[in-house]
Amino acid sequence: MMFKTHLAFGLFAGLLSLKFLEAKNIIIFLSLASFFAVFPDIDEKSSKIGKRLKFLSFPIGIIFGHRGMFHTVYLPITIFLLFLMFDNPIYGIAAFIGYFSHLLTDSLTVHGIRPFYPLLNWKIKSFIKTNSILEFLLFLLIVAIDFYGILTYI
Ligand SMILES: [Zn+2]
Repeated sequence: MMFKTHLAFGLFAGLLSLKFLEAKNIIIFLSLASFFAVFPDIDEKSSKIGKRLKFLSFPIGIIFGHRGMFHTVYLPITIFLLFLMFDNPIYGIAAFIGYFSHLLTDSLTVHGIRPFYPLLNWKIKSFIKTNSILEFLLFLLIVAIDFYGILTYI
């Protein structure tokens, strides 16, 4: 999936979880969810975030490969635990949810992800091609829901 689709989904996941959680600062909460929704593609140097942070994306891509370790469940769990260590469980949830939304949306693509790699080689995939009309329609739908979510929240 593309940067903008991940961003829209991350915001959606953040807005949705605010219905069940109480964050001290919703801007920080939504920013964390959105940031971690685009972060996993740091493992691909030609992705939008990878291009901006080439000094990170280049070695990460070589060591872990695209949609390798950075597209597993272990990283969001680790990031959540780090937030927990610093006594910030709510923001940890925001980061986890954002990251998880990335994994979920990538699992809808034909390339899919291996969420438990290297322990399990099991792959989740679906039929959406990255940068296709279908992805664009999905993106528009989520943006519309995001707007609705923001407007009804305010
Ligand atoms: Zn990805």
